[in-house]
Amino acid sequence: MTCFCHKGVGKDHAKFSPVATASYRLLPEITIVEPFLNQEADQLVAKCPMKVFDIEDLGSKGRKAYVKSPDNCSMCRECIRDPAWEKRVKLERVKNHYICATSPLNLTSHCLILFALQ
Ligand code: SF4
Repeated sequence: MTCFCHKGVGKDHAKFSPVATASYRLLPEITIVEPFLNQEADQLVAKCPMKVFDIEDLGSKGRKAYVKSPDNCSMCRECIRDPAWEKRVKLERVKNHYICATSPLNLTSHCLILFALQ
């Protein structure tokens, strides 16, 4: 089989236009205001469906929850649903950091913008 490829741009013909679902969101910023230790740390890790938190072993001082993967956060608010925990975890977004995604082109947004500028 022989395959040919022809690269073009959208202004020449619509078939070259990289139309796809595109989305963006702001980078989540999660802060543990008041430490979650031992059993509470386990509860916090278990509550988060996106595995944002993990547990740090402090040796003889026990275990402490920390924010491992803030970019995984979907802002579901499950970790602050309990009124007693509402002030212990701070959910914010970094206002000038965008996470962009395109689908199903398998191109990163950065790559897509570079192609568009050519
Ligand atoms: S808001 Fe939801 S996804 Fe984000 S840290 Fe809390 S429980 Fe996890």
